[in-house]
Amino acid sequence: MSDNNPWTRAKKQLQTAAKNFPIDPMLLARLQHPDRIVEVSVPLKRDDGSIVVYQGFRVQHNNIRGPYKGGLRFHPQVDMDEVKALSFWMTIKNAVIDVPFGGGKGGVNVDPKKMSAGELERLTREFARKLSPVIGPYTDVPAPDVNTNGTIMTWIMEEYSKIAGKETPAVITGKPLERGGSLGRPEATGLGGYYALLSFLKFKRIKTKGLTVAIQGFGNVGSFLAHYLEEEGMKVVALSDSKGGIYMPAGIPSISEVQKCKDASGRVGGCYCIGSVCDMSNMKKLGGREISPEKILELPVDILVPAALENALTKENAKKVKAHIILEMANGPTTAEADAVFKSKRITVIPDVLANSGGVAVSYFEWYQNVHKERWSKEAVFKKLKGKMDSACERVYEISRELKISLREAAYVSALKSLSKFKVRP
Ligand code: GLU
Repeated sequence: MSDNNPWTRAKKQLQTAAKNFPIDPMLLARLQHPDRIVEVSVPLKRDDGSIVVYQGFRVQHNNIRGPYKGGLRFHPQVDMDEVKALSFWMTIKNAVIDVPFGGGKGGVNVDPKKMSAGELERLTREFARKLSPVIGPYTDVPAPDVNTNGTIMTWIMEEYSKIAGKETPAVITGKPLERGGSLGRPEATGLGGYYALLSFLKFKRIKTKGLTVAIQGFGNVGSFLAHYLEEEGMKVVALSDSKGGIYMPAGIPSISEVQKCKDASGRVGGCYCIGSVCDMSNMKKLGGREISPEKILELPVDILVPAALENALTKENAKKVKAHIILEMANGPTTAEADAVFKSKRITVIPDVLANSGGVAVSYFEWYQNVHKERWSKEAVFKKLKGKMDSACERVYEISRELKISLREAAYVSALKSLSKFKVRP
């Protein structure tokens, strides 16, 4: 099977991890096979009266460490093997960042960008009703992922609560603040990635000021990360979304202006901003040029951040990567072959299961606040997030040095060590 099948890759990663850190064969068997896979039909009446039936998925990979936990994505590329891999990566991620959750993931194979607001709401509510028998605050707790957000989470919570007969905010995380969400959850994945990057720069004694960064993906994760890197004095030189990108070798003058421009125009391409005026006519003045989401990966920068989808870095483009650090903010952005190229070129890859674990860490804080009816300040959330990220980075870095393995392999060992402490049923 192809290198680009994420589930095949995930199973290979597990095999390597089990070689580096042998585990109980029953635990290995459980990790090789998701506990439960759920497929549902999601019929939708479009605004024009036609009926379309989408496929919805939820894979509950493993719950040894706690309730299944992981996002729901709406994307035409969603299929069972993708969701299986993503759910497995959640089991690993939750163990690496040390939150008391197992791994799950789900989604619908739909392009929400081609839907009206009403269609999106009807689709989501139907999907939630179909999922409600298998989710719950102590069984499986979904969250946002690609193309899903707080509003969508609220619809799911409402449908679940209706069926459960009581308000149940803890069934889902990533909710808006006024519906039981946590302060700091929107920032969490980007901020966690920033903390992870700082940790590794510190381990390697690299100064942050002036480091150049290219980011593929300017959604929730990429945009917050760009903002924190800018604040740190790093130079974000390129940004892209699925439609195109901007490249300014001298540095993008203001991430927040680009953000406003993207919010207004729906795309990052063309957002050449001088003050609050953003348009193509500024491109030349800023020494900029248009760049495709693919070419952004090959720019001469210090740090490359894939923050979009799986399989961005392949055997074809890996050799052209010039960055010496890759911060994986997407899930599964690097194919196995690309990973081998980076290893041979001694490029430091801060792996997804660590780099983007800030999101689920704060999801745990949100769930905890819901269950205990507490409200934490943003400062408290950020402090706890930093604590979790710093400890996880230290554990992974130590293992990588001790066993002389890559950070990805070390993250898997860290996860297996943690999973091994729990009893596996025979
Ligand atoms: N979708 C995010 C991830 O891939 C967050 C999951 C969560 O908060 O449960 O980590």
